[in-house]
Amino acid sequence: MVARRTVSVFGATGSVGRSTLDVIAAHGGAEAWDVQVLTGGSNAALLAEQAKAVRARRAVIQNEQALPALREALSGTGIEAAAGDAALVDAAGERVDVCLSAIAGAAGLAPTLAAIRAGSTLALANKESMVCAGELVRREVAKAGTRILPVDSEHSAIFQVLEERQSDAIDRIILTASGGPFRTFSLEQMRTVTPENAIAHPQWSMGVAISLDSATMFNKGLELIEADQLFPVDSRKIEILVHPQSIIHSMVGYRDGSILAQLGTPDMRTPVAYALGWPKRVDAPVEHLDFVALSRLDFEAPDEIRFPALRIAREAMHAGGLAPCAMNGAKEVAAQAFLDGQIPFLEIAVVVECVMESIDHGSAAASLDDVIAADQGARTLAREVMQRRVRKFA
Ligand code: NDP
Ligand code: MG
Repeated sequence: MVARRTVSVFGATGSVGRSTLDVIAAHGGAEAWDVQVLTGGSNAALLAEQAKAVRARRAVIQNEQALPALREALSGTGIEAAAGDAALVDAAGERVDVCLSAIAGAAGLAPTLAAIRAGSTLALANKESMVCAGELVRREVAKAGTRILPVDSEHSAIFQVLEERQSDAIDRIILTASGGPFRTFSLEQMRTVTPENAIAHPQWSMGVAISLDSATMFNKGLELIEADQLFPVDSRKIEILVHPQSIIHSMVGYRDGSILAQLGTPDMRTPVAYALGWPKRVDAPVEHLDFVALSRLDFEAPDEIRFPALRIAREAMHAGGLAPCAMNGAKEVAAQAFLDGQIPFLEIAVVVECVMESIDHGSAAASLDDVIAADQGARTLAREVMQRRVRKFA
C-alpha cells in the first residue's frame, strides 16, 4: 500500500486512463489516493462514474457540449464539473504529487506543459508531448524542478534498467516493437487492409489512434523520438527490434556486454503502477509471467521498406526542431483520413512523407505557440496533399 498521495488523471476515460483507475482501485481507492482531477474528451457518463468511484474533487470534459450531461450526472455529489480546453489547462495547473498525462495525440501537450509548470511530477503516457515539444518540455521540467516518469511501456522499461549515473557506459538502447497486426503482410496485402484489420492489435488492448499507429509502425517511430528526448543517449545508439510476443518491453546494453531488460505481460497497468508508486514498487492487478507456458521469445529485424514510418521518423528525429511535430500533425490527419475511409492504408506514410519534403526542417520551438503553429501548418499541408493525390487517382 502506498501512502495517500494527490493524483490527477488526464484522459481518464481512455485506455491508459482506465488502466490507471484500475491501479488506483487496487491500491485502496479513495482511502489511499486523494484524486484531484479526472478528465475526459466526450464521454461524460464514464467520467462521472469514475469521478464518483474515486471521490475526485473535479471532473473536466473537453467537449463543451457534454457539460450539461456531466453536471447532471454529478449533481448532489459535490464534485465540480467544468468543460473546454481552457478548463483542462486550468485543472492541470493545480499542483499534485503525480499527474498522469494520457490524453490521446497532440491535444495532450498544453495540459502536460501546465502540469509541469505547476511542479507536479509527470507520469507521461502522452508520447506526442515529447515528440512535438521535447526540448520545450525538458526546459520546463528543469525550470520547475520536477521530473518525468515514463508510462509508455518501452520507456518505462528503459527507465527501470537505465543506470543514469553511468550514461557514458551505455552502448545502446534496444526499443522492442510487436510489429503490429501486419508484421507478416506483404506490401500487396497491406494495400487493401481495412480500419478494422488495422486496429486489431495482436498483443495490446489500446485506444484506436495508437492501435493504428502500431499497424503503420508510426507508433515505434514516435517512440524512437520519445526515447531520444527522454534518455541521455546519442540518438544513433537507439535501435528498434521486432519482438512479436511483447514480453521484453525494451533493453539497455552496456559497454561491458551486459544487457538489462524489463519483462512482463503486455498490460499497461504495470508501467502505470511503476509511475504511480515510484520510487516504490506497488502491486498491479496483472497476470504474472509464466515462462514455461511462454516457452519461446522471437526477434526480427524491422523492415523499413514495408514500414516506411520507421525511416520517416528517424529522419525527423535527426532533423530535430519542429520536424517531429510536423510529422506527428501530418500523421494524425492522414491516419484519421484512413479511418474515415478516405485514403488507403499505405497512403498514410506517403502523405506524411510528402508533407515532410515540403516543410522547412529543423527550426527550434521557443514556445508552445511555435509548436501549435508547426502542428497546424503540417495538418493543413497534409489535407492539401491528400486532395491532390485523391484527384490524381480519381
Ligand atoms: P484513448 O483514445 O483510449 O483515450 C484518449 C483519452 O483522451 C480519452 O480520455 C479521451 O476522451 C481523451 N481525449 C481525446 N481527445 C481529446 C481532446 N482533444 N482533448 C482532451 N481529451 C481528449 O487513448 P489511449 O489511452 O490509448 O492513449 C492515450 C495516450 O497514451 C496516447 O498518447 C498514446 O500514444 C499513449 N499510450 C497509450 C498506450 C495504450 O496502451 N493505450 C500505451 C502507451 C502510450 P473520451 O474517450 O472521453 O472522448
Ligand atoms: Mg509503447
